[in-house]
Formats: sequence, structure tokens, C-alpha cells
Amino acid sequence: MSRPITGKTAVAGVVGSPIAHSLSPILHNAWLEAAGIDGVYVALEVDALGFANFINGLRATSLAGLNVTLPYKEAALAAAHDADPRARRAKAANLLTFDDYGVIRADNTDGLGLLAAFAEQAPAFDPKAGPVVIVGAGGAARGALGAMLDAGCPEIRIMNRTPARAEALAAELGGEAYELRDAEAVFFGATAVINTTSAGVANGETLDLPLAATPDGCVVMDMVYKPLITPFLAQAQALGRPTVDGLAMLIGQARPSFEAFYGAPPPADLDVRAIALKALGQ
Ligand code: NDP
Repeated sequence: MSRPITGKTAVAGVVGSPIAHSLSPILHNAWLEAAGIDGVYVALEVDALGFANFINGLRATSLAGLNVTLPYKEAALAAAHDADPRARRAKAANLLTFDDYGVIRADNTDGLGLLAAFAEQAPAFDPKAGPVVIVGAGGAARGALGAMLDAGCPEIRIMNRTPARAEALAAELGGEAYELRDAEAVFFGATAVINTTSAGVANGETLDLPLAATPDGCVVMDMVYKPLITPFLAQAQALGRPTVDGLAMLIGQARPSFEAFYGAPPPADLDVRAIALKALGQ
């Protein structure tokens, strides 16, 4: 980095555990450099025992703000004094800001990132046009459900390995719950299928669903971005379905965070995706 770091440099970052492989510092520092903003963005590893104290201590600092990733999104919301309705509904925060009076505000930009990814990679998708299928019922599914409801989606079908979790999510936020074995019927008439599960990330298991039962033109999205083209997306592409990848969502959630930290949107003319792909070795 050629920018000088001074006493006036605005500092923001991302906290999680593990955090060393986060792409967020690469995205934000590339934007800072391109925009000529006197700021820096760092990754911070904090252990579970220290998280609440760490966040509380930041109230007395000049930190511009903090992104939060696994496993602290729920704890981040709990640590905040005030929260955007998006974060409250998701029961999780990925963005914390600190005002001059020590008030911690929580937000969740994952849903904005999801909609931005669809707008960029599947511009013909209209959330109002028909049913959207969400696979999974964890934190990422909550965010996706909220974003699709906000965007006017008329019907959400939630399908999860553990049916009780899908039922609980549907009862709380809306939608209909289904089991994975119902997939063929659930895919009927769908305008999009969003995989929010972590299948294949740590356990080597992949999601084997009958995507051929989706209609032509149904958009298939996977939130996982390592690998960029997951077996799920590869199956969709082989069927000729339009796809949206998790990297587009990651970049989409980072944009509003950057603006919250540094007071200006990231420069639109920088190809930050190319920079992220290089970092991913793609
Ligand atoms: P959670 O642990 O809260 O939920 C995991 C979900 O995956 C559950 O529904 C679980 O089902 C399901 N699941 C796990 N393994 C399998 C399997 N082998 N077969 C079927 N279902 C499975 O995780 P999150 O919701 O927080 O995150 C999910 C993924 O989304 C992560 O990989 C995360 O990195 C990614 N993500 C990406 C973002 C981006 O910007 N691209 C943003 C946010 C998240 P069950 O209930 O039965 O256990």
C-alpha cells in the first residue's frame, strides 16, 4: 500500500474468528486507494470470551466502524444500543458504527448485498414476479427472506434439512416450510432458488437437489463463494439457468459498509471483482 498512514487516517475493519482469509480488507483497501480517501481497513481476530468487552471498549475510540462476520453476527446485535429493522429481523448484524456519544448502532447489509448481486448478474429477475425458494434456515436464510419480502416477493418457500427450523422461520417471518425431499414440487414455478446452506463448505457434503425441476429462466444463486462456481451453480449452468454467485453478494454487502465508515460510496469505476477473484486464485 503506497498511501501514508497518519494520525488522521480513518480506521475501520472486520472482526470474526477465523478472520485471516477474509476478502473484506482487500475490497475496502482497494476502494480507499482508488478513491484517494485517507483511510485503512484491517482484519481483527477476537476470541469468543473477549468479544463483548472488545466491542464495548470501541465506544471510547475513534474507530470509524466495524464489519462483523462468523461467528459473531448475533453477538454484535446484542452488543448494540440501537439497530436498524433489517438487523432486528435478521437477528444478526454485520455492521456496527459508533457515534460521538458512545452509542453503538447495528445494521445488516447482507440482504442489500443479495439484491445487488441479483441486479448485477441476473438483471431480468423480478422479485415481484413469482415464488422464490430459499434452501436453508440459518442466519443467511433469515437475511435472504427479509430482503426478498422487502423487494415485494409474493411467495417464499423455505426448504431445510431440519424441517423444524424451516417451520420456525416461516412462522416467524413468513413463507411456507418444506422438506428437502419435496424439492421437485417446491421448484415448480419458482423464479429463483437461493442456496443459503453451508453444505460443502466444511463437511465436504454437497447439495444434491433436482434443479432440472426448475422452470427455464429460474435464477439459481449460491451464497458460498469458495469455490466461486459451486457444484450447485455448475449444475444450474449445465441446465442453462442464469446464476448469481456469492462473491457478487459479498461485494454488494461491502458497498454500504464502506459508505458508513468513510462517508462516501466506493468508486464505481474500480473493477473490485477482478481484484477479489485474483485474491481467490481464480
Ligand atoms: P448457519 O450455520 O446459520 O446455517 C447453516 C444452514 O446450512 C442450515 O440451514 C443447515 O441445515 C444447512 N446445512 C449445513 N450443512 C448441510 C448439508 N450437508 N445439507 C443440507 N443442509 C445443510 O449458517 P449461515 O446461515 O450463517 O451461513 C450459511 C452460508 O452462507 C455460509 O457458508 C456463509 O459463509 C454463507 N454466507 C455468505 C454471504 C456472502 O456475502 N456471500 C453472507 C452470509 C453468509 P440444518 O438446519 O439442517 O442444520
